[in-house]
Amino acid sequence: MEKVLRSFFLFLSKSKFLTKMAKKYGLRFGASRFVAGETIEEAVQKIKELNDKGLAVTVDYLGEFVDTEEEANNHTNHCLETIEAIGREKLDAQLSLKLTSLGLDISEETVMNNMERIMAKAKENDVFITIDMEDHTRCEKTLDIFKRLKQKYGNIGTVLQAYLYRTEKDLNDLNEYAPNLRLVKGAYKEPAEVAFPDKKDVDENYKKIIATHLENGHYTAVATHDDQIIDFTKKFVQEKGIKRDQFEFQMLYGIRPEKQLELVKEGYKMRVYVPFGTDWYGYFMRRLAERPANVAFVFKGIFRK
Ligand code: FAD
Repeated sequence: MEKVLRSFFLFLSKSKFLTKMAKKYGLRFGASRFVAGETIEEAVQKIKELNDKGLAVTVDYLGEFVDTEEEANNHTNHCLETIEAIGREKLDAQLSLKLTSLGLDISEETVMNNMERIMAKAKENDVFITIDMEDHTRCEKTLDIFKRLKQKYGNIGTVLQAYLYRTEKDLNDLNEYAPNLRLVKGAYKEPAEVAFPDKKDVDENYKKIIATHLENGHYTAVATHDDQIIDFTKKFVQEKGIKRDQFEFQMLYGIRPEKQLELVKEGYKMRVYVPFGTDWYGYFMRRLAERPANVAFVFKGIFRK
């Protein structure tokens, strides 16, 4: 049943029609549990509350699969505005972004121009940028762009997904760039030709890449809600004498908030991924796909905004 629901929500997440409807009618169906608001003002307020509790943040202006220059330009402007707000309000926050929202599917020139604008503003405001990883068809291009920007700017990182067969090799290829990487299990529906279909294999590969990246001496963000992986990381760093300033844990806004605070109390760096904006629909559907138990919140949310 869980598998069926997962496929169903991932299928829904791709609906352009429902994405448009969601934008038109605003945050609904309990989405505000996972999305920090539709405006930058709402997001800043939520980030301040998290910072006050000792939680660092990476903020994401929601949007993906943009197919016109105008939309890509618009999205870039929102990213610039977000970076300015982080600087102005002195937030303990970074920015996460998706290259498809900046024109990756339009042309290389478009996405590079937009990324250059963002990196210039990020440098000015001393804000770190993470390029999220999307589905496997965009992985190669995303890594190429990351490598090009990393040669020019220090304040940029990206994401590798444990479910892809290629990830171990990607990790080795990236080693010479001394990258700051967020390591995740992977959130998209991928075919067995490119990704481990079995969760057990994903978890094993996840532990392997966490260990490799930490042992290579590079900054590692372990982004998971899975106790088994969190405990593995804690044990591994202790055994290898890896200092706490070489890694952090990351979780999504609204998921396991009590565990987030527990990790802060234990003295670990904990960063919360805080999405905001009107384009919340695809992100929300992927969260439901990950944990169909969250659907209960949706039914409660239908009657509230
Ligand atoms: P799962 O296998 O989903 O869950 C394992 C266990 O964790 C569960 O059995 C349960 O014990 C516990 N758990 C999970 N959810 C809950 C909950 N709601 N309440 C209580 N317990 C729970 N994916 C990408 O593809 N690209 C990205 O760029 C990307 N960026 C991310 C950034 C961050 C900060 C995070 C946290 C995730 C990101 N992801 C990204 C999503 C990621 O790939 C996974 O889809 C997502 O994190 C779910 O996997 P999991 O590691 O939490 O473990």
